[in-house]
Amino acid sequence: MKIIEKVEAIKNQDLTATENLEQMYSVIEEKNEEINAFVELDQARAEKVAKDIDERIKNGEKTGKLAGLVIGIKCNINVEDLIISAASPTLKEYQGSYNATVINRILDEDGVIIGLTNMDEFAAGSSTETSMYGPTNNPNALGHIPGGSSGGSAAAVAANMCDIALGSDTGGSIRNPASHCGVMGFKPTYGMVSRQGLLDLAMSLDQIGPFANDTTGLALMLDVIAGYDPYDTTTINKEFTPFIDDTTNTSLENTTVGVVKEFMEVTDEKIDGVINNSIDQLSDLGAEIKELTFEDIDLGLPTYYLINYVEFFSATRKYDGRKYGERIEEVCGPEVARRIQIGSYISQKEFSGKYYNKALQARSLLRNDFNDLLKDVDVIAGPTVPKLPHKIGETIETMDMYAYDILTVLANITGIPASSMKAGDVDGIPVGLQLQAKPEEDHKILSTMSALENI
Ligand code: GLN
Repeated sequence: MKIIEKVEAIKNQDLTATENLEQMYSVIEEKNEEINAFVELDQARAEKVAKDIDERIKNGEKTGKLAGLVIGIKCNINVEDLIISAASPTLKEYQGSYNATVINRILDEDGVIIGLTNMDEFAAGSSTETSMYGPTNNPNALGHIPGGSSGGSAAAVAANMCDIALGSDTGGSIRNPASHCGVMGFKPTYGMVSRQGLLDLAMSLDQIGPFANDTTGLALMLDVIAGYDPYDTTTINKEFTPFIDDTTNTSLENTTVGVVKEFMEVTDEKIDGVINNSIDQLSDLGAEIKELTFEDIDLGLPTYYLINYVEFFSATRKYDGRKYGERIEEVCGPEVARRIQIGSYISQKEFSGKYYNKALQARSLLRNDFNDLLKDVDVIAGPTVPKLPHKIGETIETMDMYAYDILTVLANITGIPASSMKAGDVDGIPVGLQLQAKPEEDHKILSTMSALENI
C-alpha cells in the first residue's frame, strides 16, 4: 500500500491511526534492538495524538494531510521535551524547549511523531558510527553501515518502523543513507524548507528533507514542510504547485536526462552497471539521454569540507558549557574535534585568504559549471554514492570516509535539489540512483522518480 493510500484508508476508517501506530510500534519492539534506528520514543504522546485523530475522523471533522502517518525525526531537529542531542555527549541532556518550524507544520497536519532517530555526531559523517548511541545497522544489508549522517531515519523507513522520516542533508546525509538502505530520500533546493530549529552543521549547506518508501510519502511530507518561514530568512517566498501532483507521472516524453561521464568514472564498476540499467529505463520511458562532462569534479570535496569546517566551527562556539550542556571540545568524538580544530585554524584572519576565500571562489565556479551542465537538460541522473557501504566497525581512513560524498556534496555547494531512489542491488546491497535538477525545479526530480517507480 502506498503512503497516500494509507492516508485514504485512515480517513475512510478502514484503518485507524491507533492501529497504524501500534503496527509500527510492534516492528520497533521487534527490531530496534538490532537496528538501533530510534534513539528515543515518545509513545505516550504519539498514542494521544493518534487517538485524537481517530476521534475527529469518527466525528466527521477535518483532519490534516498527514493524518495518522507515523513519523520519525532525526535527533538534531528540535521537538519539544525530547532530547535533542545530535547524538553528541555535548547535548546528552539537552531537552528541546520548542518545536522546529517543520515539527509544528507536521503536527498541524496531524502527523504522529513517534520519536527521534540516530545519526552521526552533529551530522558530521557518512556512516552513523560516530553516534553516542552506538551505530545503526542497515536493515537491507545487515552488518553494513546504513550510511549517514541520517542513518537512523533511513533505517527506520527501510525497516518499516515509520511511514516517513525527516533527515538533514549538508553534503549528502539524506541521499547517502537512502542509497545504502534502498529507500527514497529527497534534499530540496536550498531555501525550500525552513531550517529554523535544526542544529546546524554548516548553515549555508544544510537542508531538511524526507525519507519514504514511495514518492507519495516524499510528496506528502514536502507539501507540509516546504514554503516560506519568517523565522528563516533564507527560505524562498514563492508558491509552488503541490508535490503530490508529481507522483502520478508515468512518462518521460519531453524530458531530457543528462548523464555525466565523470560521475560514472569515479564510481565502482558494479554500481555503474546498475545505474546504466536505470538510465535505460529512463530512455524506455521516453526520456532523451544526453552525455555531459564535468571537469571540475575534483574541486567538490575540498570546497565542501573547507566551508563545512569553517561554518561548523562557528556554529559550535555556543557549546561552551555555559548555556547548552557540556563544553564541546571536552566530550566530542574525534571527527567533530577535527572539524573544530581545522575550522578554528583556517578561520583565523591571516589564513582566510589562503583557504576560506579560495573555497568561496571555488563555490561560485562550481555554481557556474552546474548552471552550464543543467542548461539543456531537465535532470541529471547518476549514482548517489560511488562505493558500497563498509561493514560496521571496519577501520576507514578519514579520506576514504569523505570519499563517499564526492557525488552528493555538489548539490549542497550549488544549492540545487537532489534525491536518491533504489536502482538495484550489487551483491545483495542496495544501490541508489541520484537525480539532480535546477534550483526550484524539485518537481522535475519527483516526477522523474514517479515515472521510474510506476514501471
Ligand atoms: N558526510 C558529509 C560530512 O560529513 C555530509 C554530512 C551531512 O550531509 N550532514 O560532512
